[in-house]
Amino acid sequence: MGPHAPRRGSSRGRCCRRDRRLPHTRILFLLQLAMILWCYLMAVFTDPGAVPENWRHDAEDSGNPSFSSSDEQESAPRYCSRCQNGKPPRCHHCSVCNRCVLKMDHHCIWVVNCVGARNYKYFLLFLVYTFIETVLDTLVLLPNFIEFFQDEHRRSSSPGDIAILFLAFVLNLAFALSLLCFIGMHASLVTRNTTSIEVYERKKSVSWKYDLGWKRNLEQVFGTKKLLWFVPLYSTEDLHNIPALRGMEFPTRSDAIV
Ligand SMILES: [Zn+2]
Ligand SMILES: [Zn+2]
Repeated sequence: MGPHAPRRGSSRGRCCRRDRRLPHTRILFLLQLAMILWCYLMAVFTDPGAVPENWRHDAEDSGNPSFSSSDEQESAPRYCSRCQNGKPPRCHHCSVCNRCVLKMDHHCIWVVNCVGARNYKYFLLFLVYTFIETVLDTLVLLPNFIEFFQDEHRRSSSPGDIAILFLAFVLNLAFALSLLCFIGMHASLVTRNTTSIEVYERKKSVSWKYDLGWKRNLEQVFGTKKLLWFVPLYSTEDLHNIPALRGMEFPTRSDAIV
């Protein structure tokens, strides 16, 4: 009886100390969760960008059109034989959505939608907030992970609980690391104004014509209002003044060598 009774008491005491810390952790966790859900729903339900019906390149209206089915010939007017419609610059046909998507990055099974000109920011914020959440979870679970390696008589939880918390820590850590790699890849793409589809195209050109410098490149995805960079919204001014956010036209650098 002697050695067990005080340990139960100290365990209860530790539990109470944890409870006192919980409100802050809970508020932070719930705020993160709200941001994840907001960004996720925006990424799912925002149309990434559709090509207007019977859209034609400006050059076709004034001269003799020369359609090309190749996505690589960006300078020539392009045509999608499956949609039977013109293709604006940086637009690609998604075989899953079965339509052309403006500034298509990729089709994402997690958001059940294409990621394109109009929801790319929401998708990126979803990744970032999910990453922060998994890092927070990992930090909160760290004491339980350490406890797993402690002697049995020093543990405050049952072996079953410790095993579950150990597994939760490992899964959160693995998820956080894989998200970090994915965010790193997209950060590199955003700062160079390149989509995942355009990576190979970019490698073939001497200087990427859409690369306007990292600051302007960021503005083409996140807008110019820095406070709105962290929420899945754009200001009306940005939507009006930045054509790239609408996905039909994109400024190019004058010194580009293709
Ligand atoms: Zn198409
Ligand atoms: Zn798609």
